Amino acid sequence: MATTPTKDYYATLGVKKTATPEEIRKAFRKAARKYHPDVNPGDKRAEEKFKEISEANDVLSDEKKRKIYDQVGFYSDQIDPAQAEAYARQQRSGGQQPPIDFGGFDFSGFQGDQGVGNFGSGNFRDIFSGIFSGAQHAQQPRGPQPGGDLEYQATVDFWTAIRGGQARIQINRQETCPSCHGKAHVGGSTECPECHGTGQVTQMGGRMKFNISCPNCNGTGHTSNDCSTCHGEGTVTRTETVDFRIKPGTRDGQRIRLQGKGNAGVNGGAPGDLFLIVRTGTNPVFTRVGDDIQITVPITVAEAALGAKVEVPTIDGRAQLKIPPGTQSGQKLRMRERGVESASHAGQRGDEIVTVEVAVPHLNDERSREIMRELAKLNPDDPRKALFDKL
Ligand SMILES: [Zn+2]
Ligand SMILES: [Zn+2]
Repeated sequence: MATTPTKDYYATLGVKKTATPEEIRKAFRKAARKYHPDVNPGDKRAEEKFKEISEANDVLSDEKKRKIYDQVGFYSDQIDPAQAEAYARQQRSGGQQPPIDFGGFDFSGFQGDQGVGNFGSGNFRDIFSGIFSGAQHAQQPRGPQPGGDLEYQATVDFWTAIRGGQARIQINRQETCPSCHGKAHVGGSTECPECHGTGQVTQMGGRMKFNISCPNCNGTGHTSNDCSTCHGEGTVTRTETVDFRIKPGTRDGQRIRLQGKGNAGVNGGAPGDLFLIVRTGTNPVFTRVGDDIQITVPITVAEAALGAKVEVPTIDGRAQLKIPPGTQSGQKLRMRERGVESASHAGQRGDEIVTVEVAVPHLNDERSREIMRELAKLNPDDPRKALFDKL
């Protein structure tokens, strides 16, 4: 019978046995970032390592599982916490005795073909009968399983987000396997390679060995023949182009749900949904803030001083903006309802907010300079006076 070696989950995550849940969480996240399959495409060793750290994290991050693991040296869903506790107690009290001489019984028998229940001692069975309570009944074949949801960021052109329209994105999704139509198996079965058909494997528990139901075949001793296309997953990963509609006024960060466009389900399970997080593109002239449009517009000194009607760009084309006399550089002027049509409130529009920037002329002729000096003489106010007044 095959023996499943004891796994040191603490060493796998590189933490001490006394590690706090926070330390375990951090260690897992660090290792997961390094070995995640998305970061190491096609790297089998990284994939294996990722599985190992995931398994270690699964047990150590769960208080109940971790306790059982600490008590018996491995974790299985089939272990009853109360019995694990009893086992740990017994082991502590019998810790001085030789490994195979626990409680006066010969544990070497565990390595034979007998299951735990075949053990002759009532005393022993009292302690252990509950530990592997789940071992007798093999799991039923998997029923329909729903497909998982997917989430992607979708960048949408500046104008499409404002006016609405069609957009497309490439995604990787799990699709029903075309070879086995999602059944995952192609009929017939082979002997389980883990337990060599016995349905049981030996697991080290501290210094003892236990027979447990083989996790690979759920104790049945044989595994179904996997579909060679999907390797028994029932789904294959496909790159797909998805077209989707954008409502006018769609904002950056908005979520769009495409029902049934997530991963395919297995064995007739419903597909998951695809969630798109919209990232709206930028524009060299306009800046969008919610439903408002911001723009910086240069004006001349004369326009600023005397007031003027100037043409400014809006998302609907050119529009007239009234510059009041005495407008300062940096001043903001609001053009009501010249912004983006609201996607959530029908009939509402944002504003266009114009920041004016006074363009100072380069004076290249003597006459202009003369006029400017004349102007300065007529307006001797010191613009910095206010600063000093505040001191
Ligand atoms: Zn298949
Ligand atoms: Zn097996």
